[in-house]
Amino acid sequence: MCYGDGGNKCGAVRLQFDAGRGTTIRLSQLGVEPAQLNGIFFTHMHNDHTEGFADLAQLRWFYNGAGPKLDAVGSSDIVSPRGFTVSCRKFLMHIADAFIQSGEIAQRHSEDENRTAGGPADLVNTITFEAKDESQVVWSSGNVRVSAIQSTHMVGHVSYRVDTPAGSVVIGGDAGNDVLTPPRARSTSDQVEKLATGADIIVHSTIHPIMGPDRGSGMFPYAFYRQSTASDLGAMAKRAGARCLMLTHLIPAIGAERQGPWRVPGGPLREADYRNAVEEGGFTDNIIVGTDLASIRLPGE
Ligand SMILES: [Zn+2]
Repeated sequence: MCYGDGGNKCGAVRLQFDAGRGTTIRLSQLGVEPAQLNGIFFTHMHNDHTEGFADLAQLRWFYNGAGPKLDAVGSSDIVSPRGFTVSCRKFLMHIADAFIQSGEIAQRHSEDENRTAGGPADLVNTITFEAKDESQVVWSSGNVRVSAIQSTHMVGHVSYRVDTPAGSVVIGGDAGNDVLTPPRARSTSDQVEKLATGADIIVHSTIHPIMGPDRGSGMFPYAFYRQSTASDLGAMAKRAGARCLMLTHLIPAIGAERQGPWRVPGGPLREADYRNAVEEGGFTDNIIVGTDLASIRLPGE
């Protein structure tokens, strides 16, 4: 997400939310270099949201090895009910360990001693916060403010809201409802709904209802239930008074016969299938079925 004016091509503040595979490739298609990012924010420690950061951090270190550091923001260490610990902090600290072990970091440092000896992790300014059910400001720069709220999907998951003079954007991540299985009122997160009240845009991962356990896909029920369905997101966007709902992280992808090992009942989905699902939830305003590099500008014009 970029904020600014025509003079700086909306480049006063550039923020990245999550870093799945291919993040640096997509950034380069937008003309943004890793060194130009002011902050990166993680919703949760699932690899489809994190693994692109190793590439991003390495590239930043390779070209700008003396800094400045990149603010990297995520929730603080948390012990799950099953006893394991989820740690954004350790993920960041060890982001280039494989490249340290291979000898690459030492080799590249020896070529250019401006690059810190400790490698990419040296250039990460880790900022963690205790995730709560109430929104809290976790990062700011000038008149851009980022808030976070705890949401359910996996332990430590959080959702973000960016407030700027141009408008507000909520990034739900993979948030789902705190009640993990039916019976429940909805699949969406009540905390995200609170965070999204009055926001201009909600960007949110989604799953199409067709993948539900009662529809024959065979998908693990836990994997289905921990996401927000497109219909429930439509209903949430309407209640929150959002102007635009952008669906991302589509499960299943448009045109796909399968979602991993699971068949898409009735055959591949089209963009209209997602749009219809959102409209069934009652939101008929501005719906964007997200594709890579889909963009939207605030204030809308
Ligand atoms: Zn996830």
